[in-house]
Amino acid sequence: MKRILVTGGAGFIGSHLCERLLNDGNDVICLDNYFTGSKENVVHLLNHPYFELVRHDVTMPFFAEVDEIYNLACPASPIHYQYNAIKTIKTSVLGAINMLGLAKRVKAKILQASTSEVYGDPEIHPQPEEYWGNVNPIGPRSCYDEGKRCAESLFMDYHRMNQVKIKIARIFNTYGPRMHPQDGRVVSNFIVQALSGEDITIFGDGTQTRSFQYIDDLIEGLVRLMNTPDEINGPINLGNPDEFTMLQLAGKVLELTGSKSAIRFLPLPQDDPTQRQPDIRKAKEMLNGWEPNIKLEQGLLKTIDYFTNKH
Ligand code: NAD
Ligand code: UDP
Repeated sequence: MKRILVTGGAGFIGSHLCERLLNDGNDVICLDNYFTGSKENVVHLLNHPYFELVRHDVTMPFFAEVDEIYNLACPASPIHYQYNAIKTIKTSVLGAINMLGLAKRVKAKILQASTSEVYGDPEIHPQPEEYWGNVNPIGPRSCYDEGKRCAESLFMDYHRMNQVKIKIARIFNTYGPRMHPQDGRVVSNFIVQALSGEDITIFGDGTQTRSFQYIDDLIEGLVRLMNTPDEINGPINLGNPDEFTMLQLAGKVLELTGSKSAIRFLPLPQDDPTQRQPDIRKAKEMLNGWEPNIKLEQGLLKTIDYFTNKH
């Protein structure tokens, strides 16, 4: 039985990961400061004999004897990571330093939840891991983008200097049950708006694209990446290459919910990337043929179901 630490474990992705790791027979420590996550996301795991929930902030050192660490702690939606931009950078950078220090001391393997945001507003399409990105270092998204880029540097340096066993996953837009209903991300926003009959808010003209990955596909990719041989560090893109405009997404949500909501166009936020699509050739090759197999419509139906019951 492995003892595994999941930072940000009470968040959207973290809660699904804790569940999966417990089902695989591991001993799981879920660490969270509940900034965007909540106990509600993991309440169903509290009676599990091998689940432990710890309130802690990753900007402070943490001590525990563990075999693996998944470092997910960080607000992920623009409104949440911009709420306290300095804290977001501290979470990414100090959080990485603290968790890498822990990994080094206890000789644990550590995986970083990085992001497609390291590619910024990409000039290369789709984005392969070799692309260095086009990030505005001083804009409103930089606290998140540059924080995550710095965390990647730290991971590589701890690996090169201290032989820490690291894995870097660059996660592309992921959605599913337990997304925070008010976190402003597009899939949850559109579904919540459609279900409550409010206008669907499209930022800009809606021609910008994203590629949406259902949570179960991501969890499978993260677990496979953690279990790759030590010489595989990444970064590795984990995302669904099926690309949609926000107009197409709005259309699908309206169709699947049967909602009569109108569409309202609002200004495009500064530095909003115009396109995003993962090149997943590396993931397929390194992760035993991993690829997403849940289509947008299927995943949207499951997510709509979740938000319908939450209403
Ligand atoms: P989320 O906001 O639901 O989860 C983040 C969790 O981290 C929350 O539970 C939050 O309370 C916790 N947290 C934040 N700051 C903390 C701190 N200082 N100390 C301890 N815990 C802290 O978001 P998510 O979508 O589940 O994202 C999880 C990770 O995956 C993040 O690192 C995010 O950057 C990364 N990611 C997510 C996506 C996506 O589309 N969902 C895409 C790329 C990367
Ligand atoms: N978006 C939108 N309406 C919303 C929320 C988001 O049109 O109510 C757009 C946003 O401008 C961006 C895309 O949807 O172009 C994805 O936004 P999200 O915040 O989900 O993810 P990210 O921009 O970080 O990829």
